[in-house]
Amino acid sequence: MAFCEQCGTPLLESALFCAGCGKEIASSAASRAMALDAARSTPGSSRASTADDFAELPEKWRQRFATIEKAGGERVRWWRWPAAKQLSTKEKRLITSNLWAFVFGPFYYLYLGLWRKAITLSLVALVLDVILSMAGDALNIPIDNFLWIVSAIMFKQCANVDYYRKTVLKRREWW
Ligand SMILES: [Zn+2]
Repeated sequence: MAFCEQCGTPLLESALFCAGCGKEIASSAASRAMALDAARSTPGSSRASTADDFAELPEKWRQRFATIEKAGGERVRWWRWPAAKQLSTKEKRLITSNLWAFVFGPFYYLYLGLWRKAITLSLVALVLDVILSMAGDALNIPIDNFLWIVSAIMFKQCANVDYYRKTVLKRREWW
């Protein structure tokens, strides 16, 4: 097993970032670059990342990405972490906490360049709002005052994993 040269944390085999300190893993980047060359010979396959892509990435995002990789990487969604048992409460919070996404929602997504997901999540939020307000009317509960929090939580929960999928996995999906 390899260890982080900066802090000594054991590294996952395919990790791009150290789960302890967020440092980029050079050997992983090199092996991904090789995978990238292999992928290029296969038309239609998605592009892998190289270390250069993360030179400008803030510390906070490196830690989030390292934690997402520890939680299961590609298969991670905010409601599904294949390796959830290995995560501490703090690490789980790293995956789903994003104050900017909570406050600014779709606008923060646009800022991150996630416009497809901004549209999809806004539509989902709209549908949820309609359903919830109809339910509120039917049950005579004044739910309208609380509807904003539904979409705010949705954007907050999705933001870090969505940005990981865009930045590290180079996915450009609507969902
Ligand atoms: Zn480290």
